[in-house]
Amino acid sequence: MARCYVALGANLGRPELQLSRAIAALGQLPQTDLVNRSQLYRSPPMAGMEQPDYLNAVACIDTDLAPLALLDALQQIERDNGRERHQHWGARTLDLDLLLYGDQQLELPRLTVPHYGMAERAFVLLPLFEIAPALILPNGQHLASLMAQCPPQAIYLYRS
Ligand code: ATP
Ligand code: MG
Ligand code: MG
Repeated sequence: MARCYVALGANLGRPELQLSRAIAALGQLPQTDLVNRSQLYRSPPMAGMEQPDYLNAVACIDTDLAPLALLDALQQIERDNGRERHQHWGARTLDLDLLLYGDQQLELPRLTVPHYGMAERAFVLLPLFEIAPALILPNGQHLASLMAQCPPQAIYLYRS
């Protein structure tokens, strides 16, 4: 089994509902156990975009799904929750990004893990730290030191 971390984000529709449905759906994937999930956080959109604030969380799963099969499953859960792709970084009902797949480092056309943006995103690092404070990335970096280097960004605890 591979221990994986998935970042969840939503800022359209009913974000809290989509996040809780998505977490439940992760736990129901074949060959997959939901291990833990963070509390919900609220954060303003990246790069000063004119969008509603996001709700964010991170979930931890153990899975026997292969990396691309897991990505397919994540994208199906996005679609099940009304995800439409219009513009890059546009507002969305649900975004599921695979942060880490075990200790694998993959650069496939459809999948880069660790996720390329995680080190710069407080809305990923903080919920990840909540559930995995001792995490070490495949390149040997400690999550705690990534957090210390992350540019300051607003993020608020929304609900446990
Ligand atoms: P960002 O990736 O910067 O957070 P985004 O989440 O809005 O932006 P999406 O539209 O959700 O981007 O995804 C664009 C593509 O990214 C997907 O079609 C997928 O194939 C690819 N991708 C590459 N690596 C990953 C990953 N680790 N997790 C999820 N999608 C990934
Ligand atoms: Mg994303
Ligand atoms: Mg995405």
